[in-house]
Amino acid sequence: MPQFEYDLVIIGSGLAGYTLAREYRKLDKTGSLLLISRDDGVFYSKPMLSNALAGNKTPEQLVMKPVEKMREELAADIRVGTDITEIDPQAHRLVSSQGEVKYGKLVLGLGATPRQLPLQGGAADAVISVNDLTAYRTFRQQLEGKQQISVIGPGLVGCEFANDLLRSGHQVQVIGPDPYPLSLLLPEAVGQRMQEVLAEKGFEWYLERTVERIDRQDDGLHLMLSDGTELQSDFVLSAAGLVPNIELARAAGLKVNRGIAVDRQLATSAPDIYALGDCAEVAGMWLPYVMPIMNAARALAKTLAGEPTDLVYPPMPVVVKTPDFPLVISPPPKDAGNGHWQIDSDDSGLRALFVDSDEQVLGFILTEDKTREKQSLVKQLPNVLDS
Ligand SMILES: Cc1cc2nc3c(=O)[nH]c(=O)nc-3n(C[C@H](O)[C@H](O)[C@H](O)COP(=O)(O)OP(=O)(O)OC[C@H]3O[C@@H](n4cnc5c(N)ncnc54)[C@H](O)[C@@H]3O)c2cc1C
Repeated sequence: MPQFEYDLVIIGSGLAGYTLAREYRKLDKTGSLLLISRDDGVFYSKPMLSNALAGNKTPEQLVMKPVEKMREELAADIRVGTDITEIDPQAHRLVSSQGEVKYGKLVLGLGATPRQLPLQGGAADAVISVNDLTAYRTFRQQLEGKQQISVIGPGLVGCEFANDLLRSGHQVQVIGPDPYPLSLLLPEAVGQRMQEVLAEKGFEWYLERTVERIDRQDDGLHLMLSDGTELQSDFVLSAAGLVPNIELARAAGLKVNRGIAVDRQLATSAPDIYALGDCAEVAGMWLPYVMPIMNAARALAKTLAGEPTDLVYPPMPVVVKTPDFPLVISPPPKDAGNGHWQIDSDDSGLRALFVDSDEQVLGFILTEDKTREKQSLVKQLPNVLDS
């Protein structure tokens, strides 16, 4: 009689949980595997949520595989609609809304939660955030018949949704405290160009201010901004950033920072517990994107299959899905403090290179037609996390 019911338990059926399960199964065909998820367990591509409208895709068309298919392919048990409420690292035990389970090894792929803004007014609860397929279904239902859309948050996800809405025939207002779009990722000159080009395409920007109140007015909504500006709107989408889901780990006594703290082998501070994806901070870096997850899943699968493996991050450019302003960002490493941006631009777009004192390129940003230079520039970059 084994001490635990499953060799490996993964919490989360997002890209992190499912990619890890798939990579693990390539290396270990027999270990017993359980995935637990509070959602419905369908496999879908989250990045497509912010370009499905203009692509005429319904939420159902974004489902890549139903949960039954995932069970079969992964030779795994998958429990859906099941909320994990407690982890007991000493006893290797999980408590869930559907009972308890004992694990040999545990992986947390818990994702992140949209940041809630402190909004006032009678319609503050009408604001919607989209970070999964279920919320996207609600978004699409509520969007029906609406024309003037307000997007709170001029970051990557907010700008992608705004561009998708614009291209599907809506009017968009983008509101946020930032001085220019994607201000956490772009130097000012690039952000300003993005702002100008998208304004020409129809974006209405309300930057350097926040939404304070949302009230119902006639058939629509009335927004009051921090500088006194008043806006009429039919629908408000909030994309004000993500907060990693760390509470479960914190309550279990695991080390947490911004995300659940893990080392190069994706190990948390507790024995036999690992984390990856949007919930995890890997070697001090929180990178909530697809490429870091794919790399982490491959390395962790090897470790779990018996070959301890340090994670290596190659250069991982992010293609921003704003088709009216093509943009690729390969951010410099967090500790590349003494470098600087070299920016040149012409009619075909803008190229920004982040170089250190030895003229080594550590990161880049390309816009418009210059995005074609992506592959050749990637070859010049060092690894983000090296062996
Ligand atoms: C609109 C949008 C567009 C994006 N576009 C891009 C892009 O173009 N390129 C790119 O690189 N990245 C993009 N990203 C980011 C990328 O999609 C995410 O980094 C990735 O999908 C996160 O996967 P995850 O598995 O870590 O988290 P999630 O997908 O959030 O999965 C978390 C899982 O944990 C489960 N869970 C959480 N808590 C519990 C609990 N207590 N009990 C049980 N289950 C629990 C949830 O049900 C869910 O199954 C985009 C993100 C968004 C929102």
